[in-house]
Amino acid sequence: MSRIVVWDVDDVLNDLMRVWLDNVWTPAHPAPVVPYDDLRENPPHALLGITSGEYLSSLDEFRLSIGYAQQVPNPDILAWLQDHGGRCRHIALTATALRTAPTAAAWVLRHFGRWIREFAFIPAPRPGEVLPTYDLDKGAWLARLGTSAVLVDDSPQNLTAATAAGAVALCWPRPWNGCRASVAETLQALTRLVDGREAQ
Ligand SMILES: [Mg+2]
Repeated sequence: MSRIVVWDVDDVLNDLMRVWLDNVWTPAHPAPVVPYDDLRENPPHALLGITSGEYLSSLDEFRLSIGYAQQVPNPDILAWLQDHGGRCRHIALTATALRTAPTAAAWVLRHFGRWIREFAFIPAPRPGEVLPTYDLDKGAWLARLGTSAVLVDDSPQNLTAATAAGAVALCWPRPWNGCRASVAETLQALTRLVDGREAQ
């Protein structure tokens, strides 16, 4: 079976939460600060003592700023793609606001376009915005690819939806998802899937 690797963007290909926390939130809120490694929830607005709307507004502004454009691509994933990327197709799939999708697409294609040739997004709901609904979530989107898809994502909700849709789900370790595998182990599992050596 020829696999298609579907990459989540934020907090997988990049380090969005850490960059936002360190460069936007913490400088503006000197105390109390929640250390990145203590972020057991994502979205983290309750931990930070703000509303979901305040959090999303700040994150959207950051996504449109030079700070997002200057994010460093994940070096472990770049190295993996260098070694293994050419053996299958790759798609970026992100859930983001419509107005922040263009900057996400530009960032992905600039750093990963050698392998990731397709960019897809599911519009995250924002107040006052009414858009056509094609896919309710990543699971609905992935269902079109069937069992060839491997989703790499940090969100337990997305991973569950992917599995329900028939895709293979690989959890990218972050403080908020309780993933037990390391980055190296996760990428080794991906290699096995791409090579067709996965245990069934
Ligand atoms: Mg993510």
